[in-house]
Amino acid sequence: MPGFTLYSNEIFIEEKIDLAKYLWKKYGKDLAADREIGRLLGLYRNEILESYKLMEMFGVVNECAICATEVPGGGCCGAGIEDWYDEFMLLLNLLLKTKIPTERLGRKDCLFLGPQGCQLFARHHFCVNYLCSQITDVLSPVQLSDLRAQSGKELFLCWKLELILRNRLNN
Ligand code: SF4
Ligand code: SF4
Repeated sequence: MPGFTLYSNEIFIEEKIDLAKYLWKKYGKDLAADREIGRLLGLYRNEILESYKLMEMFGVVNECAICATEVPGGGCCGAGIEDWYDEFMLLLNLLLKTKIPTERLGRKDCLFLGPQGCQLFARHHFCVNYLCSQITDVLSPVQLSDLRAQSGKELFLCWKLELILRNRLNN
């Protein structure tokens, strides 16, 4: 769609957020109205909700929210992780009606960390996959394997959507 190359690895997160907002304003309606994208967004939303449901059931949401908001540097949600996000991941959040935070909670925290935990809905694969030993030590092998399988479903749809967005917006 646009007449420029999207490659954000070397720009600041604030610029990536602005770029995602620009793309959303300019192409968001058309992207959301696209049958395939709309279908995948619906499936992706459901898998993310399913992931949260499992994490809540296993106590992970609570543990991580306490750790991320009470440990200086946010446990594994430290400053700098926001830089791993690009405009496509951020655009996915906007397409899923999630506001992108622009105010950092604490100097050592990830930009997207809020008082109750992560404020993004569509998250980077590190954020979806990473579980420290504080979590893995208390989950049963079955719970761990259920969680991994669910993360895989979420990330597969994320990958499909990212691929489509990259193709559409880079051509
Ligand atoms: S995965 Fe571990 S380090 Fe990361 S927020 Fe959860 S409890 Fe904290
Ligand atoms: S994006 Fe969310 S889950 Fe990932 S590090 Fe930042 S606050 Fe934590």
